[in-house]
Amino acid sequence: MKPLQELTRPNIWALAPYSSARNEYAGREARVFLDANENPYNGPYNRYPDPLQLEVKTAVSKVKGVPVECIFLGNGSDEAIDLPYRCFCRPGVDNVVAIEPTYGMYKVCADINDVEYRPVLLDEQFQISADRLLAACDEHTKLIWLCSPNNPTGNNLLREEMVKVINGFEGIVIVDEAYSDFSSQQTLRSELGKYPNLIVLNTMSKAWGCAAIRMGMAFASKEIIDLFNKVKYPYNVNLLTQRQALEALKDPFEVDKWVRMLNLERGRMIEAFAMLPICQKVYPTEANFFLAKMDDAQKTYDYLVDLGIIVRNRSRIQLCKDCLRITIGTKSENSELIAALRQFE
Ligand SMILES: *Cc1c(COP(=O)(O)O)cnc(C)c1O
Repeated sequence: MKPLQELTRPNIWALAPYSSARNEYAGREARVFLDANENPYNGPYNRYPDPLQLEVKTAVSKVKGVPVECIFLGNGSDEAIDLPYRCFCRPGVDNVVAIEPTYGMYKVCADINDVEYRPVLLDEQFQISADRLLAACDEHTKLIWLCSPNNPTGNNLLREEMVKVINGFEGIVIVDEAYSDFSSQQTLRSELGKYPNLIVLNTMSKAWGCAAIRMGMAFASKEIIDLFNKVKYPYNVNLLTQRQALEALKDPFEVDKWVRMLNLERGRMIEAFAMLPICQKVYPTEANFFLAKMDDAQKTYDYLVDLGIIVRNRSRIQLCKDCLRITIGTKSENSELIAALRQFE
């Protein structure tokens, strides 16, 4: 890895971050808060929330096994996807490399930040080649985006190839593990100590059942997290979200229960899809969704929409011609989808 200072945009490295009222008295017991121009009435929502969300991070740290100083919390993963661009990529100069197909937000954030996006096609098994990813890089490549299990394909990327990318790249590698709770593959989060150029993303939106509260996580070296904290909005995670996240994090066993149930249903759905005459192939998955190649994805999609059943049509995405992406729902929702498709001709 290049020195972090060399990877960081010079204006960001030199940035004096906004210092909020609540940062400045640190360390001492406080009782009377006349520092932030808040209204003293209407507690508890009258007060600014903790800008570094230490209580939530302490709970996240226990559940995820990562030290508090190596955790960033954001307004969804979206914020954690945008921040590496803002911290590392000079608009109009630097570029990033990513697997293709994958989650759409990496490219949207590249476009917003005026950063060149270099997609590298996966193979027919939706697998990566470290050599091909590294060959797409040049001296202006700051980030490589990986996603495992990948969206929309559902499969895990080969671990040896991911490690080869991390070890072989001088910049930052981001591995989005939004779906890792559903997967048997060991998370890279536990190996952050080995890889100073690795950022691992998680979210409360999928297995944790909290898409509405908007809370995403990034795990990385303290140096990278410090950089994110400098650039983020001071109060990026609101108090309602922090409270609800704390509630959810109290009960990881509930999440395990959901995951077991959803993974069982995933097995049932894959079998049922494979039997449908209109389904050509179901791709292997370790996420809470699967990709199915249909005879005519658009026709099937339209038929389902008319019945009020919405799946994701991914047929216009590279390597995904005529593919639908199906999220695993409740047992009865899943059964309704299968019943509808059995009636379709
Ligand atoms: C759903 C998803 C996320 C979650 O995004 P949030 O902003 O945290 O809701 C992140 N990455 C991938 C690949 C996803 O599919």
